[in-house]
Amino acid sequence: MYRFYINNVDNDYHYDALARVFFGDDDFEVITINTPDAEHLALGDNSYMVNSSASDSRDAIKREFYYLLSDLTGIKSDWGTLTGVRPLTIALGILDKVGNLAEMQQELANKYLVSEEKIQLLTDIANYQLNHLKGNPSDKSGVYIGVPFCPTRCAYCSFASNVAGPAAIERYVVDLLKEIEYMGDLVKEHNTVIESLYMGGGTPTTLSADQLRRVIIAARDSLGVDPAKLEFTVEAGRPDTITADKLAVMRDLGISRISINPQSMKDETLKLIGRDHSAEDIRNGYRLAKQYGFDVINADLIAGLPEENLNDFKASLEEVIDIGANNITVHTLSVKRGSRLKDKDPDYYRRNEEMVADMLRYARKRLSEEGFFPYYIYRQKHQIGALENVGYCKEGKHSIYNIRIMEEKQTIIGLGVGAIGKVYYPDENRLERIPNVYNYEVYSERIDEMLDRKNKYYE
Ligand code: SF4
Repeated sequence: MYRFYINNVDNDYHYDALARVFFGDDDFEVITINTPDAEHLALGDNSYMVNSSASDSRDAIKREFYYLLSDLTGIKSDWGTLTGVRPLTIALGILDKVGNLAEMQQELANKYLVSEEKIQLLTDIANYQLNHLKGNPSDKSGVYIGVPFCPTRCAYCSFASNVAGPAAIERYVVDLLKEIEYMGDLVKEHNTVIESLYMGGGTPTTLSADQLRRVIIAARDSLGVDPAKLEFTVEAGRPDTITADKLAVMRDLGISRISINPQSMKDETLKLIGRDHSAEDIRNGYRLAKQYGFDVINADLIAGLPEENLNDFKASLEEVIDIGANNITVHTLSVKRGSRLKDKDPDYYRRNEEMVADMLRYARKRLSEEGFFPYYIYRQKHQIGALENVGYCKEGKHSIYNIRIMEEKQTIIGLGVGAIGKVYYPDENRLERIPNVYNYEVYSERIDEMLDRKNKYYE
């Protein structure tokens, strides 16, 4: 066990997060102290002092700590001292201040020790967003509608997702319609302009064609949006939920964006992660979606899935390119504490860092050859190698909703189970969360309270 004493700081949060990039959860301890005499303190074995000079600069302390951690482990993290979820926000904040990309790049390298490769990635994403998104995001709002049901539960799932029978699903739909209609009255009363709407979950296409139609019509009529003109996306993540009648309902109502998420195109992997369908089901889902003329089809892939090697990942990527996805999000597997994978193989996380880094590198190169642009990025806790998730798209096929969620400069209205609404206050550059409940049975019991919470968006 290593002990790191960080001097002249009050909170261990940033230093603990940085140490986790280099060490397993139980291999270190970060202890904050405040003393002018730090260099003279006697430390035990495997104990180290950071910031004995009592600097006040968090960035300088993090750099010193980074170099120490790197020396002890021989690891160099591509993200340097950046441990947060939104590295692009840092880059764009610098760009706002310095006014040009070259100085932004320099500051990312010098102040945060970010590698050249990741600086270029951030620069490409910043360029894409600056070229494609105009106007002030806070003038409009986004909407998220949650449908917390899936046919089975995947091994790594941390979302609001349940396997439920038809009666429970119908009850949920009835309550969801109430919430949409209630919010619709407020939206109209306050002249809120909706910029994008995302139906996620869960898997919204677990609903029947008729239930889907009722939810989409309620959203259209209550929120006053036209699915044919608005960015309106429906997640059909699990191909085993896609049927011709559901696709027909969506297309008839004007929806042209759908997300079909393979994660992998290898049958053995799909089985291993608890998906009850084959790669052929995914291919069929894509064929059908293309037949119905969906304009944007997103595919999610995960790098680092159990028992996959670089060639497996390459094969999955080739397939999703071939079957016509024009928006591809490449995720790094996040191995959370308490997950089955972490319990079974605690070192999985560390052993696969280099391979997963190669997968991400390969995806970037290959997708660029195919005319894709990286357009949004985020990181999660417990990701292999502290790496990232990157959304790629063909020119103009980006998702505004994905960008706004990461940017955090827009109110997002959350409806349904698991939805976390956020109100943005531009004057204070701050978000306030308005979460709905996470359990669909509790949602039904407390639907009146969920409705009441909607008033908070305009208080
Ligand atoms: S499809 Fe997504 S939401 Fe559903 S169980 Fe799998 S990971 Fe969870």
